[in-house]
Amino acid sequence: MSDKNIIEKASDTMGNVIDKAGNIMDNVTKFQKQSKLKVGYVERDEFKNSNLHKGFFCYNCIYWIDMTGGKCMIVEDKGPDLFGNVSDVIAPHGCCSVYEPDFDEIKEQKEVVVDEKK
Ligand code: SF4
Repeated sequence: MSDKNIIEKASDTMGNVIDKAGNIMDNVTKFQKQSKLKVGYVERDEFKNSNLHKGFFCYNCIYWIDMTGGKCMIVEDKGPDLFGNVSDVIAPHGCCSVYEPDFDEIKEQKEVVVDEKK
């Protein structure tokens, strides 16, 4: 392969790398948290004193972050929930349609049930 061809090939490869890096940056900057309304987030005071290790609660969702009253990696904490309430947090007793269980928090799911009758 001639020096000219090697240089052209290297130049093409660099062009591809730069294009790919550009696409990745576009995707990163396009990512935005979803609104509470879009994901169907609800937060009811009645559930504040519930056992948050059980049931469908943000507290035991893999996306929940325990800081400044509660945050979510994928849902915006500002804005109204489905009931029109504005709390400015993702409360530990809230929940939404994107809920994914964190089995480290849901203690019961990790227990092994042994049926001694068998
Ligand atoms: S249930 Fe929804 S709002 Fe709550 S932490 Fe999980 S993804 Fe975020």
